[in-house]
Amino acid sequence: MRDIQAAITSGATSQEWQHLTLPESYRALTVHKDEVGIFEGLSTAERNPRESLHIDEVALPEVGPNEALVAVMASSINYNTVWSSIFAPIPTFEFLERYGRTSPLAARHDLPYHVLGSDLAGVVLRVGPGVQRWKPGDHVVAHCLSVELEDPAGHDDAMLDPEQRIWGFETNFGGLAEISLVKANQLMPKPAQLSWEEAASPGLVHSTAYRQLVSRNGADMKQGDIVLIWGACGGLGSYATQLVLGGGGVPVCVVSSPEKADICRAMGAELVIDRSATGLEFWRDEHTPNRKEWRRLGGLIRDLTGGEDPDVVFEHPGRETFGASVYVARRGGTIVTCASTSGYDHYFDNRYLWMHLKRIIGSHFANYHEAWRANELVRRGHIHPTLSRTYTLDQAAAAVCEMQQNSHHGKLGVLCLAPAPGLGVTDQARREKFAHRYNFFQTHDR
Ligand code: NAP
Repeated sequence: MRDIQAAITSGATSQEWQHLTLPESYRALTVHKDEVGIFEGLSTAERNPRESLHIDEVALPEVGPNEALVAVMASSINYNTVWSSIFAPIPTFEFLERYGRTSPLAARHDLPYHVLGSDLAGVVLRVGPGVQRWKPGDHVVAHCLSVELEDPAGHDDAMLDPEQRIWGFETNFGGLAEISLVKANQLMPKPAQLSWEEAASPGLVHSTAYRQLVSRNGADMKQGDIVLIWGACGGLGSYATQLVLGGGGVPVCVVSSPEKADICRAMGAELVIDRSATGLEFWRDEHTPNRKEWRRLGGLIRDLTGGEDPDVVFEHPGRETFGASVYVARRGGTIVTCASTSGYDHYFDNRYLWMHLKRIIGSHFANYHEAWRANELVRRGHIHPTLSRTYTLDQAAAAVCEMQQNSHHGKLGVLCLAPAPGLGVTDQARREKFAHRYNFFQTHDR
């Protein structure tokens, strides 16, 4: 790995990168197939990622057609790493086995360990046959859509490909590692004004929020739209808030602490609800929704907006909030959901949906075009990283726990081959132009 780090420090040419001898193995954050039963009988909250996550030395996979090996300088933690680490709702080895059965090349992914991680910023080491656009030495970020595109269904919107997978969750060789294997059509140019860890942080959540809110495949948000954003200071929400502000909308941010409310205001959002302070409880008990509280939320939103209801509700908490989300959306409004963190058996009162002509849209990650457009917004300085804390690869399990306990703000970064934070900036002038936007989350770090 020293050769790779030296090549980065010395600014090696593409030829030099091409001739760099690659190691036979590398360090990676993994879960083990023979441990999927260790949490049996425990609730998801009781499952401790520290017990299942390992740092292992794993074999370097061969690079196949239309693939690339990337030296990972930094990665970030996403909620899917929490799911993988607690083997819920199902162990991710089931995805790897299913993928492995599809072709001899895919069989490489079906291993007794799973290298996790769905974000990276780094340097291309090798490209496989057929790759034209990228070459060794290129500074890149990777989005997490792994797609085969052999089926016509995926050629209108790649997210509809039946062989669509999330890299590092439903495939092996993810980004929380020193080296990663990606499809070449996951690569995008690294924003030059950002450090490695900053560049690795928007990828998955920002692209997801972009499709959910901005794309025609999602809510197709318009200027002036009022958008209710759950978890506005979390991974998805911190980018959703920026996208709404940048697109001429009005975010109504929901968070759970005064610190998080301050961060939303620092981002430029004026309308913020602290759900802890207001004591909103949408369920009387496990089986009984509390409609009074739906109405109370609607009232709180109207108090902030001057009597308006949300045109769009940005949903992901799931069971806990979904009934309220459907209730508070404006007549003709849209509820766009990409997740169910608090449970996927949702409850809502359908009268409020059909009588008021609302729509529920399911959304999942983003196609290459959407991810590229989202990355362009970061490159041009319209959207900024929301990194609050950076860990080393050895400390990654602690970062996963922080996310599981909802004690983080924005995004958590992980240094893989980068020896220290703050490296990798290649356009200092551009950085200075936007630097004041980078520390809303860091200054609020506890
Ligand atoms: P995150 O960084 O943990 O942020 C989620 C936020 O949601 C938290 O900050 C929290 O904010 C809020 N929240 C959590 N539980 C809540 C509840 N019961 N009621 C109301 N608010 C709640 O996670 P993330 O990266 O944004 O991801 C969120 C979910 O989306 C995860 O389940 C993840 O797996 C999923 N996801 C799906 C996709 C996809 O492509 N389908 C992509 C990205 C993420 P407050 O405590 O401040 O309110």
